[in-house]
Amino acid sequence: MKPNGTLLNIPSIKEVSDLSGLSLEEIGDDHLTTSLVETPLRADAFEMSDEDKIATIAHHFRHIMDTLGLDLTDDSLKGTPQRVAKMYVQEIFSGLNPANKPKAALFDNKYHYDQMLVEKDITLFSNCEHHFVPIIGNAHVAYISTGKVIGLSKINRIVQYYAKRPQVQERLTVQIAQELKQMLDTEHVAVIVDAKHLCVSSRGVEDRTSSTITAHYSGKFAEEAVRAEFLSHVYKR
Ligand SMILES: [Zn+2]
Repeated sequence: MKPNGTLLNIPSIKEVSDLSGLSLEEIGDDHLTTSLVETPLRADAFEMSDEDKIATIAHHFRHIMDTLGLDLTDDSLKGTPQRVAKMYVQEIFSGLNPANKPKAALFDNKYHYDQMLVEKDITLFSNCEHHFVPIIGNAHVAYISTGKVIGLSKINRIVQYYAKRPQVQERLTVQIAQELKQMLDTEHVAVIVDAKHLCVSSRGVEDRTSSTITAHYSGKFAEEAVRAEFLSHVYKR
């Protein structure tokens, strides 16, 4: 059975509405995205070294804490700006940097396995790009080989790489699917992301039970029977 959740139909790139004319107030608290596939990054995003980014972010985070009235001479607080900056650059947003992209180790499909391979319940930690608070959930990924296969842990690493960015769930789902298609040279890819957004549960409407499901099916997974088989593997209990 599929869990209860909000099923978002991911529109094609052409269908994504243009938000450029809207003010921040008009966009409000809704999670709308302007770019479906590419994370909006500046061309000079990686000209600054990681060390300089950490120093700059620590400097600005210190200002945020100071503005909130926190006493930065306190033993418990004084290391926080540096800790947060390191965590941003080296851990939770490390997937912004293409240098950190997992290298693909592909193998020939020696066993001539021509059915779907499903990797389910992949742990997913990301952060919402609208509020910078966590998105916590699972990803379920499947592909049908057209000649190449990939090490199983690589699928987890691809999910993690794209999750370690400020994200919207729709884009994360498509980015994982695109990467697998490109890496494995197959169109037959399915990705489901099922996640809770702390910006929905811990603040705002404070709904602790809802989750958001996004899905991307392409190639043979667009066929109803193939999709049904994938879903039966993922949601059998
Ligand atoms: Zn949010």
